[in-house]
Amino acid sequence: MGIKAEGWGNKKGTSNRECNCGSWKKHWLNESKKSWPSNCSKKGCTSNPVLGAHIYNADVTGERIVPFCDACNKLSDKFTLNGGVTLVSANKTNSCEA
Ligand SMILES: [Zn+2]
Ligand SMILES: [Zn+2]
Repeated sequence: MGIKAEGWGNKKGTSNRECNCGSWKKHWLNESKKSWPSNCSKKGCTSNPVLGAHIYNADVTGERIVPFCDACNKLSDKFTLNGGVTLVSANKTNSCEA
């Protein structure tokens, strides 16, 4: 399987979105069942991730949540993810609001 690493972009206008988890960071933790990583998910970024960012890819159906630092969450250009990053679905009806 493996995830597609290239061609991701930040979804705009998601700051007022909410889910039952309380935060998108918590949503990522709940869905991935993993511990919060020490590095941001963007390739080459070693900052501490502070939030769960909504990202999308033209080749992937649906939006995903990844751990991102504040700076990467503001990127307007397309970016590449680190290999091995865990993406969780941003679709609440299949997860925390099911
Ligand atoms: Zn949630
Ligand atoms: Zn970053």
